Amino acid sequence: MSNDHSHHEDGGETTGLPLIRCRRCDSSLLQLERIWLLADGRHAAERRCPDCDRHDMVVADPRALQIWAKRERQLLETLEELAAALSTRETPESVPPSGA
Ligand SMILES: [Zn+2]
Repeated sequence: MSNDHSHHEDGGETTGLPLIRCRRCDSSLLQLERIWLLADGRHAAERRCPDCDRHDMVVADPRALQIWAKRERQLLETLEELAAALSTRETPESVPPSGA
């Protein structure tokens, strides 16, 4: 990691942020639990791994955390859209008719 950061940020690759990678099981689905400001001006984040249920804390660049928070929100929205799509796909046909 001695190379300087190249500035291209194209695509939605998930490999860019080591922030969201679990140190124990290498899952890249770490969730952002909360962010707070430290006394020295840096930002800390609490992370949770959905795979091995490990919690830990990192101190990170607020910009990286913002990107992460945005990603989380987009993911949430995607899941909500998916849930909405699934619920609309569920047609009344699947409901058993009430006997009359
Ligand atoms: Zn893990």
